[in-house]
Amino acid sequence: MAASAPPKSVVINAKEISIPTGLFINNEFVKALGGKTFEVENPATGKVLLSIEEGQAEDVDLAVKAARKAFDGGWADSDPAWRASLLHRLADLMEKNRDEMLAVEMVDSGKPLNQASTVDLPASIGTLRYYASWADKVYGRTAATVPGTFTYTVREPIGVCGQIIPWNFPLMMFVWKIAPALATGNTIVMKSAESTPLSALKMCELIREAGFPAGTVNLVSGFGPTVGAAIANHMDIDKVAFTGSTATGRVILKAAASSNLKKVTLELGGKSPNIVFPDADLQKAVDWSVLGIDFHAGQVCHAGTRIYVHEDIYDAFLAAFTKKMASIKVGSIFSSETDQGPQINRSQYDKILGYIDIGKKEGATLHLGGNPVSKDGGYFIEPTIFTDVTPEMKIVKEEIFGPVVVIAKFKSEDEVIVAANDTSYGLAAGVHTNDYQRALRITKKLRAGTTWVNMFNFLHWSMPFGGYKESGIGRELGGEALDNYTQVKSVFFNMGIPTP
Ligand code: NAD
Repeated sequence: MAASAPPKSVVINAKEISIPTGLFINNEFVKALGGKTFEVENPATGKVLLSIEEGQAEDVDLAVKAARKAFDGGWADSDPAWRASLLHRLADLMEKNRDEMLAVEMVDSGKPLNQASTVDLPASIGTLRYYASWADKVYGRTAATVPGTFTYTVREPIGVCGQIIPWNFPLMMFVWKIAPALATGNTIVMKSAESTPLSALKMCELIREAGFPAGTVNLVSGFGPTVGAAIANHMDIDKVAFTGSTATGRVILKAAASSNLKKVTLELGGKSPNIVFPDADLQKAVDWSVLGIDFHAGQVCHAGTRIYVHEDIYDAFLAAFTKKMASIKVGSIFSSETDQGPQINRSQYDKILGYIDIGKKEGATLHLGGNPVSKDGGYFIEPTIFTDVTPEMKIVKEEIFGPVVVIAKFKSEDEVIVAANDTSYGLAAGVHTNDYQRALRITKKLRAGTTWVNMFNFLHWSMPFGGYKESGIGRELGGEALDNYTQVKSVFFNMGIPTP
């Protein structure tokens, strides 16, 4: 039995908040068996907030044993109404602890108040309640087969689910993963991102308080090549759900193939196109396009990173878009005036500035921004626009994951559809037009899992989200996510047919 790890008190925005530091196994916060810890930084200041326990493969083994015991010990066959009530209770506790949850999410991820409070927290609570409602609505079917038999299907939980989440939405990704899994009777071994482990730790505190049985949800904080790899390769994990880079997604898929062929769902990167036609409402298209690229400083997998504007309105759009991008307030995450916070860490900050250099060297025009913003030691970068881009440029092809957008001109509908689909990704795409025939035509032709008409970056828990092409496998959210957390059993019942 691992030793218990005490919580630490951290001052966030002049308030003391207690944060668990241990791995969460069997409803206890425990020390890592290997005795290691790692530091967690506030991206808005570059300063260390606290150190927490760092798991390794041996801790993953313990967590899997706890999850297996909980699965076999009753959770899988539990009353769905009870599972629903626990999910609702967890949502209630998030509401009750709203200010603490918000503060932790903000220093964990670097999200400004007006984004964390209007999107991350309410959407996480909404998602929990949505899947609570699904818990007792997962049905099998009966089938007419041969007279003298009774045949039906049941949908059963998959088992122990490994879940590996990224750093851009620490709270929401945690909830997107646990809610459908728990509603359908699975148990969980979660790995948070090493840059943003704090919201997940706070959630585990609430999970215990809500009354989930020991072992139902386990969390092993730590790094990808150790904890993540141990999950992906584990012989007693039945499914792995991953969100992060396409490169790591490939590693996970290979690990699943070479271990126990665990089921895999992947939510990966994107380079989403955003198309503006002359008949669109120009200012609305500008507003949605700015939201499309600048929400969470561009660290969003479905960000609208490639804007295609019809030549007739190109100059007008560029002028209005530039004006709005230039007015974005970059700064303190605690100020309600702030639009854009910091990038998540030094490595992402360097990577983004590196892409800005590449863009200049490739011959694109740096139309706006392109510089670091020096503030409080945090990793801030100016909203950045490149124009005069060509399809083969790296800044047009690769995911930058920062506040950097490229804008290109187009002449015809056919030409822009080819340009929009000219990517190995297929996560999302948007079109701005008031010609609804055209909107329908184009959304049909866009090879992307989510398409928007006259909006961008808008998701809802009741609508499935996931990628075409190299943006992923499977869907999260909506009823569709339940397919990823259940497997179908066919039952043939002999009502009297003789042996053939
Ligand atoms: P990443 O894919 O390396 O990390 C995502 C998660 O996977 C983290 O929890 C990480 O610890 C884990 N991981 C890393 N290596 C692993 C391995 N070998 N086995 C198992 N798990 C492993 O992403 P990153 O390095 O943090 O960011 C790099 C790029 O990924 C970003 O610049 C961005 O382009 C992309 N990204 C995409 C998303 C998304 O939502 N699609 C989220 C974050 C990052």
